[in-house]
Amino acid sequence: MSPSAAPRPSPLPPRNPIGAHVPVAGRGLVGTGLAYADRVGAETVQVFVANPRGWATPAGRPDQDEAFRIACAERGIPAYVHAPYLINFGSDSPATRERSVASLRHSLLRGHAIGALGVVVHTGAALCGGGREAALAQVREDVLPLLDELDALGGDAPWLLLEPTAGQGSSLCSRMEDLAGYAEALDRHPRVGVCLDTCHAFAAGHDLAAPGGVTAMLDALTAAVGPGRLRLVHANDSMDVAGAHKDRHENIGAGHIGADPFRELLAHPATAGVPFVIETPDGRHDPDRVEGARHARDIELLKRLREPAPAARAVAGDTAVAGSAAVAGRPGRAAAA
Ligand SMILES: [Zn+2]
Repeated sequence: MSPSAAPRPSPLPPRNPIGAHVPVAGRGLVGTGLAYADRVGAETVQVFVANPRGWATPAGRPDQDEAFRIACAERGIPAYVHAPYLINFGSDSPATRERSVASLRHSLLRGHAIGALGVVVHTGAALCGGGREAALAQVREDVLPLLDELDALGGDAPWLLLEPTAGQGSSLCSRMEDLAGYAEALDRHPRVGVCLDTCHAFAAGHDLAAPGGVTAMLDALTAAVGPGRLRLVHANDSMDVAGAHKDRHENIGAGHIGADPFRELLAHPATAGVPFVIETPDGRHDPDRVEGARHARDIELLKRLREPAPAARAVAGDTAVAGSAAVAGRPGRAAAA
């Protein structure tokens, strides 16, 4: 990083930065987004750069994009963009495919402008009649040119992060194994990575709460796309049981996944350095609404789960008693649970 150039966040900081998808409406990326990140203790952020339920491609304001990029770099906060939900390259509608290309291109370019390390896109569904094979051919036709455009942006272009969905209907990717064909359709391009959503994976039948469940899922992911492709985790608990194919996020530790699998996930070599972003309920409908309170609790809990287990610390010379006292003595958790 030369002193003359505006700094950009360095890729994959030590262990796991933990943060949230943050709102940006109102005072924008810095005024709303980073202020929210500060309030909830986020070490990493994800933002929308367009209405997630629409096709609009707002130009944004170059001065705000630049200010956000510099502020994230100064704070050491890796940033991510989530592309709109309507994008589906497996659609049977040429208009939808065209809009999907324009929408994803927009998220990639704005992502580059704000210094994002990755742009998350849902892998979509095969609705085009020819089944999975035909849909993946469409993915190839539509997305490979976008990856060429990313290459042209240079070394600081964001990665394209494929997010498997909960497995409703004709999802192109829900099980980790499904990612192999999708990555293959994109020629295993070097800027294609994976965003693992724990709620989606659980819904698709990866039972993270079962003994060995986390490792089995990560092994399947690595087998499908190879090592080093997992670039982001959406850390969400689930309101529904494993294999329910329902996409209903719950606060960490309050759902059917529970807290322990997140400790395992945070300690696994396959997630080393990978940021964790929560997309959990923010409590805006709670009677005692305090903005961001639930997100702050989720982030605090994940940060504690990121610490070495008391037993491991005892081995390292610390005492198990001190370790558990530190956890039990943290104010606010009993009331939060
Ligand atoms: Zn997600």
